Amino acid sequence: MNQKSRDIAVIGAGISGLTMALRLADQGHRVTVIEGSDQLGGLGTFFEHDGRTFEKFYHCMLPSDGPLLALMEDLGLTDQIYWKPSSFAYANQGEIFPLNTPMDLLRFKPLSFLERLRVGFTGAYGRVASDEGLDQMTTAEWLGRLSGKSAFAKFWQPMLEAKFGDRYADVPALWFWTRFNREKGERKGEVKGYVRGGYKCITEQFVRAFAARGVILRMSTPVSRVDLNYDENPIVETDRGEEVFDQIVVTLPWPGFSKTAGENLRAEAKGIDWSIDFVGVINCLYFLKRPLTPHYWVATSEPEFPFDGVIETSTLTDESDRGEGRHVVYLTKYMHRSDARFTISDEEIGRDWLAGLKRQFPDLQDDEIEARYIFRAPFVEPIYTKGFLSRKPPEVLVAGKIYLATTTQVYPTVTSWNGSVIQANRTLAAMADDVVNTPTREMASTAI
Ligand SMILES: Cc1cc2nc3c(=O)[nH]c(=O)nc-3n(C[C@H](O)[C@H](O)[C@H](O)COP(=O)(O)OP(=O)(O)OC[C@H]3O[C@@H](n4cnc5c(N)ncnc54)[C@H](O)[C@@H]3O)c2cc1C
Repeated sequence: MNQKSRDIAVIGAGISGLTMALRLADQGHRVTVIEGSDQLGGLGTFFEHDGRTFEKFYHCMLPSDGPLLALMEDLGLTDQIYWKPSSFAYANQGEIFPLNTPMDLLRFKPLSFLERLRVGFTGAYGRVASDEGLDQMTTAEWLGRLSGKSAFAKFWQPMLEAKFGDRYADVPALWFWTRFNREKGERKGEVKGYVRGGYKCITEQFVRAFAARGVILRMSTPVSRVDLNYDENPIVETDRGEEVFDQIVVTLPWPGFSKTAGENLRAEAKGIDWSIDFVGVINCLYFLKRPLTPHYWVATSEPEFPFDGVIETSTLTDESDRGEGRHVVYLTKYMHRSDARFTISDEEIGRDWLAGLKRQFPDLQDDEIEARYIFRAPFVEPIYTKGFLSRKPPEVLVAGKIYLATTTQVYPTVTSWNGSVIQANRTLAAMADDVVNTPTREMASTAI
């Protein structure tokens, strides 16, 4: 352990917390990870079905996820990642239109010929346009200008509403620009990656790496308060009481952290926008005995669908990862956690959503459905507003003491495992700059 070794608590064990803990342990610090649930992996977490594990929320990687892939390399997982072609399609009036090439767009009947050309122009321009000023303009303004009002209303608006509901109108164009360029800016073409054995294998590899580095993992330990005590030392409160650390790194979703931030901390961390809210999601997962389409993603933006997309992850995964003859389909809907669907029964959601699925795939028979699961996540990503770059919290919350590596800061990078690793790297750099002259508690007491 080096001379400047610190006693650091990392709160939350999603990919942000796991990455921070690994890197800080590699720097020689004593790291304690404190996780509220009984599983590692946060939104990338898993459940068991028929002897295999599956993600509760569909997850995959892109070839452009450089920092995440570098982390996978460090974890010794590169050989376990495999890549498959992926495609996108759009459901309209019972038909499914593939939308992956310029030719697909030219054949896209839901838009008039002129609208197709303008959407095509938007795509081409979006790839070369500078991002300057886009944080100060809404996506609706930007896309409306590039694609025209009618193409925006028919094509882009339903996709934005699918993600942000009625708050879509505030989302900055910078969010769309980065998202668009992440999905389309791939050298290897449209391929997506999955890890053999599922995302559970990634968290298992973290556990091995932690064991080798002496990282302490405290599971099922929700943090109820993060604060500064009367000596101005950072403290974490759980059902074990208050504990003092040299430093704390918070990786929680912002609305959750906002509730736990204590009075002294709030007084010390000036200029922080504690009101940033999050959108949530419901995923309904079907194990089917046959495929629905050859597409990874079919957007179902028409209002009669209770969900916004049909994501057939089995188009990306090997049978050895899902079971022979088993096909895996997620139906997804983003919404605020105050929406009634967060509290109504799974049976009710399952009934409505299956009816929606059968509207699109009328020949789907009940005996072709092996099983159904429903998962809800109340905190997925911030509800962005114009000028979010200046609203998002800084990496250093209280100099030398409390740091942030959260989804809220990932913007304008796309919220994803890769985005979280990029943010963790930014936070580590900020900590390195910040701690140079900050003594540990032990060093401070020796000096006294
Ligand atoms: C439907 C869906 C699909 C997605 N698809 C992809 C994809 O294909 N590829 C991709 O890369 N990304 C995808 N993502 C995004 C990705 O999952 C997230 O961006 C990423 O997991 C965020 O990681 P995090 O560690 O910052 O936060 P989280 O994963 O939210 O982790 C936060 C952790 O903090 C814990 N916690 C919360 N409160 C407390 C408390 N009080 N005390 C202690 N612990 C607490 C939680 O239990 C959790 O473990 C998807 C997300 C969703 C919802």
